[in-house]
Amino acid sequence: MAEGNPRGPNILITGTPGTGKTTLGSEVSQRVGFNYINVGDVAKQHDLYDGWDDKYQCPVLDEDRVIDELEEVMSSGRNVVDYHGCDFFPERWFDIVIVLRTNNHELYERLEKRGYSGKKLEENIQCEIFQTILDEAREAYKPEIVHEVPSNTPDEMEDNLDKISAWVHEWNISH
Ligand code: ADP
Repeated sequence: MAEGNPRGPNILITGTPGTGKTTLGSEVSQRVGFNYINVGDVAKQHDLYDGWDDKYQCPVLDEDRVIDELEEVMSSGRNVVDYHGCDFFPERWFDIVIVLRTNNHELYERLEKRGYSGKKLEENIQCEIFQTILDEAREAYKPEIVHEVPSNTPDEMEDNLDKISAWVHEWNISH
């Protein structure tokens, strides 16, 4: 058992809003038979908020309460977690971190379609331009478990799906 870790793997899918985390995360979890956890939905369901983020114009998560809420299920393994942030989760939770990247033009269109406009739209595009989430992931996790992958087209989505499924298969063989 590598590093004495007896549980199944946990996968984090992160990236700027609109890069495709929910689409990929829910498909991956179905394909490999893991539990899908959308952290935004968990926060909404249990009202785990702590104020308002003026920059991104969204509620601020109460991170400690989110961690408490998820600790038990995460310690069992076999979860795919979807969130547009990654540095407040316990590092030990994750065995692989996927950071989705989308080019600006494509992301702009997706976020506009979602109804984002003005400052909220601009701040999210800037977040992607400055690779904020990728840097956050590289700081918070071991570099060898952080994978930056493109998410511009359906073909790239399929490719990401295949690669993550293959990684889970390998994990199962080697553990
Ligand atoms: P996120 O969860 O990161 O906010 P979503 O999964 O909700 O992103 O995807 C945002 C939009 O982009 C959706 O309309 C989705 O269908 C589309 N989308 C996601 N990934 C891709 C991709 N690889 N290629 C084309 N469209 C995509």
